[in-house]
Amino acid sequence: MDIADFYGHVRPDACPGALQVHIAADGALARIRIPGGALSATQLREVADCSAELGSGVIELTSRANLQLRGLPSTAAPSAAEAGAFAARIAAVGLLPSETHERVRNILASPLAGRVDASLVDVRPLVTALDRGLCASPELAELSGRFLFALDDGTGDLLPIGADVTFLATSPSGGLLHLGGATAGIPVLVDEVVPSMLAAASAFLELSGGTAWRVSDLPDGPALLASRLQPAASRDGGVSPGRLSREIGSLRAPDARVVPQRDGRVALEVVVPLGRLSADQARALADVAGEVRVTPWRTAVLPDLRPEDVERVADELTRAGLVTGPGTAWAGLSACTGSPGCAKSLADVQGDARRWATGTREPSTPAVPEGVLVHWAGCERRCGRPKGEVVDVVATPTGYRVGHGRKTEKTEKTETRGDM
Ligand code: SF4
Repeated sequence: MDIADFYGHVRPDACPGALQVHIAADGALARIRIPGGALSATQLREVADCSAELGSGVIELTSRANLQLRGLPSTAAPSAAEAGAFAARIAAVGLLPSETHERVRNILASPLAGRVDASLVDVRPLVTALDRGLCASPELAELSGRFLFALDDGTGDLLPIGADVTFLATSPSGGLLHLGGATAGIPVLVDEVVPSMLAAASAFLELSGGTAWRVSDLPDGPALLASRLQPAASRDGGVSPGRLSREIGSLRAPDARVVPQRDGRVALEVVVPLGRLSADQARALADVAGEVRVTPWRTAVLPDLRPEDVERVADELTRAGLVTGPGTAWAGLSACTGSPGCAKSLADVQGDARRWATGTREPSTPAVPEGVLVHWAGCERRCGRPKGEVVDVVATPTGYRVGHGRKTEKTEKTETRGDM
């Protein structure tokens, strides 16, 4: 699929995947889609080993709860063994179920679905069914690597992200389908959620004719798509019409916390500084939990812990360099790759952001307000910037510029690696 970008250039959807890698200044970058952000300890350990043995040892958490490996072999002609080794290894642990659809498996899910009181619908089975339905549809392989599905269990944590197709549970029996970030939703029963989401994706492809990546790329896209979908969706049979539209809140600021589960166990959410895990940190997470859920806030959630184990687990992860207590400067702090990983960068933004967070900043480091979302970027593209109200710290040829506000839709379209 080709599309004219913000600058008017016609270019293909270059969103990286596990097979279609992006060649960055520090080597090949591969993105592994993680539907629902859910990884078994075995899968996470294999990703860590791949990162250490084949790449630079850096694993990035993306804003769509996917994982990115950097520094993979990127010579003009990597050997077949090099090119195939990574794919074969992640396929062996179930992280590459479809070669044709690997880039379109962008599915967010509320990380504590089915485990906490606020969760109205356990969306975990819906993630599995949606992923299978997506991969079973040859036409949906044509979606761009940026098209995003979200399954919100009723906590409302995913709605502000503005996915192309969001299910928001409003009762245990159903909820609303929000298209392209629209505030108004189409009523849908739980049984209809997956067919309706797949129908929405198909309708989007028909409407766009291959000229758009996201619903918001189409003029009046959300309304147009809703008009196509409405007859196929629920006629409100049994779904509470309680909220046909709702105020979409702001993106929640990530922080470390312990969350009680319904079953008496607890979940520990840890902040990953700048959304970058070392291979050793990933192994440390895999060592203390049977399952790890990465989130669009670039945190990692460890569910199903015994309350008496939490302190020991937190101590181990703290020793590994992860943030397990609330209220640190790392919470709400993000940064793009910057130098030397990105050739476009005007600064070592990762290093500068780290120095800012640890208080070892140099006199030239800009004053940045604390307690708000802050995003550091090496150029105006601001890759990986959270949506909504954010303080931007953007490198310029003469130093950092600090600004506050929202990124416009038009600017968001300039991002070449949208979910970084
Ligand atoms: S914001 Fe600019 S410098 Fe940072 S990763 Fe994106 S293109 Fe590179």
